[in-house]
Amino acid sequence: MSRQDVTEKIQAFIDTCHRHHLKITPQRVAIYRELLQSDMHPSADVLYRLVKRDYPNISFDTVNRTLLTFVHIGVANVVEIFGGAKRFDANVSDHHHLHCIQCGSITDFHHRYFDSLADPEDVPADFQILDKRIVLKGICNACSKKTSQPHGTPHHDENPKQKGK
Ligand SMILES: [Zn+2]
Ligand SMILES: [Zn+2]
Repeated sequence: MSRQDVTEKIQAFIDTCHRHHLKITPQRVAIYRELLQSDMHPSADVLYRLVKRDYPNISFDTVNRTLLTFVHIGVANVVEIFGGAKRFDANVSDHHHLHCIQCGSITDFHHRYFDSLADPEDVPADFQILDKRIVLKGICNACSKKTSQPHGTPHHDENPKQKGK
């Protein structure tokens, strides 16, 4: 993300906070900036450690609550991961995720057909669909390289065989 993109997104973030009567604090802006500049869909803990470098007195709880507030006002999303810590995403526009089941990495991808999927017929009529996002689970390139069977079925060995480097 370019410097200008970051500046514009932060300005939009500040405007949204104003609309929601949310006080703009340097800590809030710092948390948003770190989330915006990370493409890793970080957890609250990862963001806490990043923001703590500039704001040593900030607590994990503050970071976590701030992130949930961001989700509430629509400037961030919680990524659909079940089990493990919540992961956050400042990209609230249409996109989809590749989720590596070995290292937990979450990577964005774009697909216009997925963006415009019709509502499935067997979804109950009284279920209000707010968002449709495709999650493709698999093994990322880095993890494939680490295992001895890059094209085989994923193994869950505790000690995957390391190939000589
Ligand atoms: Zn991986
Ligand atoms: Zn994403």
